[in-house]
Amino acid sequence: MSIASVNPATGETIASFEALTVADIELKLQRAIDAFEINRKRSFEERAVLIHRAAEILEQRADEFGRTITIEMGKPIQASIAEVKKCAMVCRFYAEHAEDFLTPEWIDTDAEESYVRFDPLGPVLAVMPWNFPFWQVFRFAAPALMAGNVGLLKHASNVPQSALAIEDIFREAGFDQGEFQTLLISAKQVNALLEDERVKAATLTGSEPAGASVAAAAANKIKKSVLELGGSDPFIVLPSADIDAAVATAVKARTVNNGQSCIAAKRFILHERIADAFEEKFVAALAALTVGDPLDEATQIGPLATPQILEDLEKQVNESVAAGAKLLTGGRRVGDRGNFYAPTALSNIPENAPAYAEETFGPVASLFRVSDAAEALRLANATSFGLGSSVWTADRNEAEIFIEGIEAGQVFVNAMVASDPRMPFGGVKRSGFGRELGVYGIREFVNIKTVWVGKSSSAKTE
Ligand code: NAP
Repeated sequence: MSIASVNPATGETIASFEALTVADIELKLQRAIDAFEINRKRSFEERAVLIHRAAEILEQRADEFGRTITIEMGKPIQASIAEVKKCAMVCRFYAEHAEDFLTPEWIDTDAEESYVRFDPLGPVLAVMPWNFPFWQVFRFAAPALMAGNVGLLKHASNVPQSALAIEDIFREAGFDQGEFQTLLISAKQVNALLEDERVKAATLTGSEPAGASVAAAAANKIKKSVLELGGSDPFIVLPSADIDAAVATAVKARTVNNGQSCIAAKRFILHERIADAFEEKFVAALAALTVGDPLDEATQIGPLATPQILEDLEKQVNESVAAGAKLLTGGRRVGDRGNFYAPTALSNIPENAPAYAEETFGPVASLFRVSDAAEALRLANATSFGLGSSVWTADRNEAEIFIEGIEAGQVFVNAMVASDPRMPFGGVKRSGFGRELGVYGIREFVNIKTVWVGKSSSAKTE
């Protein structure tokens, strides 16, 4: 895939870029090493000043960066601007809390002194996806830089302008020695970077094949990796739930980011007592969404990010219908240019249909009916993924069955799955390993160093 911005609403190529050469990469790697020596020696307070400045730049220029996002990957403009503002929030969160999260922990042992300290590792490679082109990067970069590391970004090939804008933001904020560098490179150039001793660890957000490849290459050199991969999140609605609230949230949870979110609700598991009522309202609300130009503030659903995503989604829907699934709405492209697909709902989905358990990366909802909570839990777990999950019930004891039983990194009750800088984010099963955000996120890329000072050392100093 070439490195280019192609407007998904029009198919027009806006800018294209040559991949860096081996010599270019060498210069940037050496710069990263030098920058690490600077950033590791900064105090938390000094780093926080720079990260707060990055937050200010994001807030002041949210409209401009939002437009960059929308033109590159098709997210409705209001959501793009909100994404930029959320990046400012994660910057401020880590500027304020990193020191607390990484303060040495004193532990009582037989030693004179014993404690744990958290030292930075060095350059960390971040391989990132296009779907939240700013947010995915900032939720890695803010804690990494606050911990004293430096970042190298290999962004998705269809969002190079976002990638370059992010590098500029950090530079303007005062991380101007190469603490955060964008590498415009292809996926094929990633392994060589992981083989380089100077790159200390890797984080990838993306698909399973990409995650497996990066984690294997990192493991081959005994390097730490964090993987944030796909999901097929269940959205479970039980009879005691507030159905109108569940429907309104379900529509949002399925169509956020034009349906291209790892934590979008994808499988709607409905108790048979409320299934008819839910289905009727949900399908009507999906069909009423405004599909169109993502730069128009009234648009609710923009185009899919690339023609390939559109083709893959269309194939999943067509194959599911051919296997016996019932099409309740949508199931077709919209317009004669751009990658638009109508919000779609399927029911009666057989187990062999793609929409049963595969991730659908677009506005396609799979509806299922169950007779009780136990069956709902079984179906929720009948996927190779384990990222997020949402359960709707007014019965706190019933909620507990799912909180305990769901095989996922996150369970939300009567709420939509969403990332929050204060809470850890990540998955189990084939959704990946490791965590981002919160205290857990910043501790992924540090040396958790045990320090033991024996009694004789203190005796000598007396
Ligand atoms: P993708 O194809 O895996 O791309 C993600 C990144 O990995 C891109 O930068 C891509 O570069 C790179 N890449 C692809 N193959 C690679 C390889 N073999 N070695 C090294 N790098 C490689 O994923 P996508 O289709 O863009 O993104 C959608 C997927 O991401 C979905 O499955 C979604 O659920 C998942 N996702 C997960 C989370 C989470 O937090 N769990 C968040 C967002 C998205 P190129 O663009 O150059 O190919």
